[in-house]
Amino acid sequence: MAGERLMTYSVPLIAPSFPAAEDMDGDYRDILDSGRFSNFGPFERAFRAALEDHVGQSVSAVTFSSATTALQAAMLACVDRGSAARDVLVPAFTFPAGPQSIAALGFTPRFVDIEPVGLHADPDAAARILKRDQVSIAGIVIGNSFGTGAHHISAWEDLAGEFDVALIIDSAAGFGSAYEDGTALGARGTCEIFSFHATKPLAIGEGGAVLTRDPDLAERLRRISNFGLDDDGVARLPGLNGKLNEFAAAIGIRQLAGLEADIVRRRAVHDAYRTAVADVDFQRNAERSALGFVSLVLSHGTDRDAVVGDLAARAIEARRYYAPAVHRSDLFAGGAPLPVTEDIEGRVISLPSHRGVTPAVVEAVAEAISARRS
Ligand SMILES: *Cc1c(COP(=O)(O)O)cnc(C)c1O
Repeated sequence: MAGERLMTYSVPLIAPSFPAAEDMDGDYRDILDSGRFSNFGPFERAFRAALEDHVGQSVSAVTFSSATTALQAAMLACVDRGSAARDVLVPAFTFPAGPQSIAALGFTPRFVDIEPVGLHADPDAAARILKRDQVSIAGIVIGNSFGTGAHHISAWEDLAGEFDVALIIDSAAGFGSAYEDGTALGARGTCEIFSFHATKPLAIGEGGAVLTRDPDLAERLRRISNFGLDDDGVARLPGLNGKLNEFAAAIGIRQLAGLEADIVRRRAVHDAYRTAVADVDFQRNAERSALGFVSLVLSHGTDRDAVVGDLAARAIEARRYYAPAVHRSDLFAGGAPLPVTEDIEGRVISLPSHRGVTPAVVEAVAEAISARRS
């Protein structure tokens, strides 16, 4: 692994593009002239409004310095810390930030298995935990895995409603993605969380947002992002410092303007993989995703690690996200087995989707996979 990280790839998994320096020049001067560097200045307000416009559906956006601070703020705002139940339902097949945020706020992640088609937390597995095993929970944090909209999102909303708990959706890699009904991610559950880290489809460097249809929740989240302060400067809510600064917001505005064209190109790469690579399962609904990368599940008997190695030898970077799954890390080990998660984590592979992926690269990937199939 260390060797892989050190090597330089001619086709890295992620190759973010950023606005040219001269394009940022005027924004930088405007920020210096205004003397507003953070605390909901004009660039943050414009970026927030642009996010709301982009997603539509009457959502309110609250910006954050990262998706992880956004997740923690959402936990503070939506999960009752006085609840007798201490478990929060979460998939293990996810980025660690969700389970870590649950633990940081004094709750216990209760891992739920995924389904093998969308690779998202499985509402049927959750129903078994809640109904058959009668586990009480304080909240639910699910992920839209790899930024792709879960096809069973309504079932999750129904379940959260039935048990009267918040449904926080970690859509970190999914700004620009849509659910199967064509609506943009950002308007489902109690709220949805997005990341603008350099590796995400809408890249700022560091940044995040919570989107929700509940304007009162948005207002509470905005206060929580600023130490829980009210307008009179008194802290009446729990808080943290999660604000997005003006320089970051200025980059975000420019990146958002180019997002749709970028996604069209990424979807064309996804289609090319679909045509070229045989005998694998592509993630359901990926064709409506922002596709920061393309993830697929190799057939049983294909040597995934050998494929990753063969591609590395050709200077093409592929990765094993999210493997090993979180429930097997030392931090959270000890829970019940998760058969689907443990099958998928050994077969999943994520491939580059950026503009550097030429037809020759797609061909090389298809060859590498077919050569390692038994
Ligand atoms: C990237 C990612 C995060 C973390 O986002 P940050 O903005 O880096 O804090 C959390 N959850 C998922 C699913 C992610 O992909």
